[in-house]
Amino acid sequence: MFRTAALAASLLLAACGTTPGPETAPQGPAQAAAELRPSVLLVSIDGFRADYLDLGLTPNLQRLADGGVRAQWMTPSYPSLTFPNHYTLVTGLRPDHHGVIHNTMRDPVLGKFRINDREAVGSGAWWGGEPIWVAAEKAGLPTAAMFWVGSEAPVAGVRPTRWSRFDAGVGVDERIDRVLGWLAEPEETRPRLATLYFEHLDSAGHRNGPRAPETLQALREMDAAIGRLVEGLAARGLQDRVDLVVVSDHGMAEVPPGHVVVVEDMVEPADVELVSAGQSVGFQPVAGRTAAAEARLLGRHDHYECWRRGELPQRWHFGTHPRVPAIVCQMDEGWDARPREYAARGGDRPRGSHGYDPALPSMRAIFIADGPSFVDGLELPPIDNVDVYPLLAELLGIEPAAHDGDPAALRPALDSAGAR
Ligand SMILES: [Zn+2]
Repeated sequence: MFRTAALAASLLLAACGTTPGPETAPQGPAQAAAELRPSVLLVSIDGFRADYLDLGLTPNLQRLADGGVRAQWMTPSYPSLTFPNHYTLVTGLRPDHHGVIHNTMRDPVLGKFRINDREAVGSGAWWGGEPIWVAAEKAGLPTAAMFWVGSEAPVAGVRPTRWSRFDAGVGVDERIDRVLGWLAEPEETRPRLATLYFEHLDSAGHRNGPRAPETLQALREMDAAIGRLVEGLAARGLQDRVDLVVVSDHGMAEVPPGHVVVVEDMVEPADVELVSAGQSVGFQPVAGRTAAAEARLLGRHDHYECWRRGELPQRWHFGTHPRVPAIVCQMDEGWDARPREYAARGGDRPRGSHGYDPALPSMRAIFIADGPSFVDGLELPPIDNVDVYPLLAELLGIEPAAHDGDPAALRPALDSAGAR
């Protein structure tokens, strides 16, 4: 149950019988059930590290957790990067299974993928699996994306009813207002699933590191945004008609000055094609140079470890998709790999990075949910981010596609006596 001052007023109104009743047009029982079902609003605060919640800077998120459900933390999938994990959240598939295996990829047929390549991002061929909005649209439930990774491409020919190209110039308040406007629409057009995305905390964390004053200020601003969203729902009388799910994609680790490994020092540049740099580093040996590249790369080194793609640690569930490079090197926490020309970037100040082992505490993400379908005041043990998809399917009343999640992980969060 959302806890706001406005809530008490709206309950009083309902008790006085002044709240308009449902439309009285004739309809079948199935349609009536679908219309009574709350909308699901899935919010991502990119780069929200789980222990940011313990700093006492996020009273609005704390109120949501107190009145609803939170997981102790949510473990991201490998690699702990933005695109792979946002797409995992809406498909329930590991990156190795949905195919968005990195922010920077190569495909034997499709060529190169980078997150600022609008053509690639908007091409359905890159996006495997079935995002939850595709299933919802197929079931006749309108969906709307105020930005989400994957929502700009027709996947299996389907996009959300409403979507837009990512534009950092659309401000926080404007994003919230658009979503509130959609959710307040009449039954016929009200999205049953809406997404809302904020990149600001991630950006501050990268620039300054997870403990810097600038990052903590961004944290306060994100919490205020959640407060504005919750108040906006209550002001429109929507608090009993919207299930709010707030997640992040990964955490953020501090990178001290000088913690850079130069890619050209890892392997003879003529022996390999560098597919991706950063933290999960991919190399494709050139023809005839596989043995030389492997001899230099495979195994443990200072600040990183490398494997053939079929031999990565099993707990990462990574290495079978054809887009996974032949050799993958995983950087240790707090170290980045960069081509020499960018090695000095960042200067002498600490920065932040993610993309490290998802099991590290610094990479942990958040899961908080509140609304009519959720029990009140429950803290669950840690969950895995593939477990969110079956919850979303259940909230929407649609059949989940094949996924890697555990439907039992979040079932205790659901209030069986609630509005579902
Ligand atoms: Zn991210």
